[in-house]
Amino acid sequence: MKNSLGLESSWIVFWHECRTVCILKNKKEKERLSLVLTPLIKKDGISHCWISSASIWKQMAGAGIKYIPSNTFSYYDHMLDTTAMLGAVPSRYNWTGGEIGFDTYFSMARGNATLPAMEMTKWFDTNYHFIVPELGPEVKFSYASHKAVNEYKEAKALGVETVPVLVGPVSYLLLSKPAKGAEKSFSLLSLLGSILPVYKEVVAELKAAGASWIQFDEPTLVLDLEAHQLEAFTQAYAELEVTLSGLNVLVETYFADVPAAAYKTLTALKGVTGFGFDLVRGEKTLDLIKSDFPSGKYLFAGLVDGRNIWANDLAGSLSTLQALEAVAGKDNLVVSTSCSLLHTAVDLVNEPKLDKEIKSWLAFAAQKIVEVNALATALAGKKDEEIFSTNASAQATRKSSPRVTNEAVQKAAAALRGSDHRRATTVSARLDAQQKKLNLPALPTTTIGSFPQTVELRRVRREYKAKKISEADYVNAIKEEISKVVKIQEELDIDVLVHGEPERNDMVEYFGEQLSGFAFSANGWVQSYGSRCVKPPIIYGDVSRPKAMTVFWSSMAQSMTSRPMKGMLTGPVTILNWSFVRNDQPRFETCYQIALAIKDEVEDLEKAGITVIQIDEAALREGLPLRKSEHAFYLDWSVHSFRITNVGVQDTTQIHTHMCYSNFNDIIQSIIDMDADVITIENSRSDEKLLSVFREGVVYGAGIGPGVYDIHSPRIPSTEEIAERAKKMLAVLESNILWINPDCGLKTRKYAEVMPALTNMVKAAKILREEL
Ligand code: GLN
Ligand code: ZN
Repeated sequence: MKNSLGLESSWIVFWHECRTVCILKNKKEKERLSLVLTPLIKKDGISHCWISSASIWKQMAGAGIKYIPSNTFSYYDHMLDTTAMLGAVPSRYNWTGGEIGFDTYFSMARGNATLPAMEMTKWFDTNYHFIVPELGPEVKFSYASHKAVNEYKEAKALGVETVPVLVGPVSYLLLSKPAKGAEKSFSLLSLLGSILPVYKEVVAELKAAGASWIQFDEPTLVLDLEAHQLEAFTQAYAELEVTLSGLNVLVETYFADVPAAAYKTLTALKGVTGFGFDLVRGEKTLDLIKSDFPSGKYLFAGLVDGRNIWANDLAGSLSTLQALEAVAGKDNLVVSTSCSLLHTAVDLVNEPKLDKEIKSWLAFAAQKIVEVNALATALAGKKDEEIFSTNASAQATRKSSPRVTNEAVQKAAAALRGSDHRRATTVSARLDAQQKKLNLPALPTTTIGSFPQTVELRRVRREYKAKKISEADYVNAIKEEISKVVKIQEELDIDVLVHGEPERNDMVEYFGEQLSGFAFSANGWVQSYGSRCVKPPIIYGDVSRPKAMTVFWSSMAQSMTSRPMKGMLTGPVTILNWSFVRNDQPRFETCYQIALAIKDEVEDLEKAGITVIQIDEAALREGLPLRKSEHAFYLDWSVHSFRITNVGVQDTTQIHTHMCYSNFNDIIQSIIDMDADVITIENSRSDEKLLSVFREGVVYGAGIGPGVYDIHSPRIPSTEEIAERAKKMLAVLESNILWINPDCGLKTRKYAEVMPALTNMVKAAKILREEL
């Protein structure tokens, strides 16, 4: 369904800087689209989010915020907005110039009937995805979206003075990718001279409109940059200096420490009057600031965490601020959030059902701006004692609450540190023992776990949750579904079966709901991309498993077939990476606790006669820290956590894992170190990348199933095509370790797509077996 503007029906809009909320920019647009959108928003369960930019500006002003950002609203993504601002539309979208309209904008964002969308990738280490600019040497830049200026004026007309936010020119280029054909011999930074004229026009217009501050986001400064990349910052701001004169200019960084060399470059930039730092994740930056901060410049101290949902420790932050005041000077110190509030939940007001005590420990975006103001006023000597004392007592109850601390769990997790946890035998010996028991054909076939989630299934789960149907009816409905899925797989002649996960609405939430130490918000949505949001569980306490979580369904499923039925679990690292994690202990500590809970589940499954157990680590790679120097530590504890879950099983129990990404190459050693018996991986969009790992001589002895077709597309792969891809794998991998499977779970697909695709997949495996 398309509405009058040609936008697709699930279209919802978010603001970048202030709040993760939908929807329309002004009243007229709201009225125009509300008819189409209201039912959809209700369906998505976020009907409370009818908030406009105007209301956010007013809310911030009302909370006492002095530097209120604008140009933070986006119809899709702020990087795409910058692409639009610069007129950098890839030629295939046939844009003919002028101001970029919805058609071109949404074609780039989501594709249209004939053209695919531009590539989307993760925004640093967040779960937000941005549209990657594609730039070649021949792009002609032009000032093609006046959104920044228009938004500034819109706020001004409402009586709110704002700080327009632009993605900085150097970060924009560093986060771009070379257009097809321009990959080699082309430096993206060589375009700096071509984009700066557009930036100058924007700045000049903002100035003319009355802006007195402007913010450039240059978060790439926290990455591992080379000297010539740092040099680009110096050049860019030197070139902008004249245009910027008369304005206060803030360059904002976030998500990690700014390395010493980058700090030096940053604080020496011409034309810049203020610097912003993430002081939640950037503890070392704090030391750099204390030892050397340029005099007369503004310091934006990001002390309120924009990446989490915890209430700030106001007393602690205040004392940090007091120390910083001595460095930057009283009038030049500004309190801020550590980054955009895009990455946190919206407002605790929407959580009437959340446990009161837990709620007192939390702060969503709306509460965070109140914290920022409380800190700023306290710093100015007008401390609101009530806010501070309520905050202090919540901090204290959180520290001492028996709901947070479980001594047995703490002890067990502490005992894991420094230890190794490896299965006693080598993977090849285990595979032999497993094959004796499982007796699988060569090139065994399997799927990743979920089968299509029908409207009917969603209804059953919803009604059971709302206590509208009895437990017995619910169990029957799920049992019927499992039995259907089992039959289908037997008829398709798949070798290792799955139960289809009909009882799960989400692979993390399902486990979180059954583990102690987890809480769930009703409306704590965070944008992932476009109109997609996730609602991460909140891990607030020590994690333990009161009782078995999957054994009931898995043994029921196994009892329906003589073929092996995979037990299906989500791994500790993925549960951690897709949740809001407690900030009162290191992440690895929490991860070890989850690992122990999953270990209990693995062992219970084994006891119940399940011989193949898959522990999904879909998100292991995405937790990789931004800086290379921190990779080894993260990979060490995350891989260790995975091994903990299955160290206790017999050789004959086959442990699978599954990973969702194609970029396998840089962490291949860690993947081997996970020591799973079989790994299935998402790969179907980039065979070549994966193949190159093995061509380069990496020895992989465990079972491996690189997805033979892309489940993210409705397209049905042919038998020949699947066989062709598997053959390519066979050229670099031994035939006794290769598995044949799709590249991810099937839950987003329809049966009409899944049936022919799996039929072709099994056919392809059979043809190849003949040829071995
Ligand atoms: N077992 C899960 C499923 O099939 C894995 C999902 C995922 O990798 N994201 O749905
Ligand atoms: Zn996957």
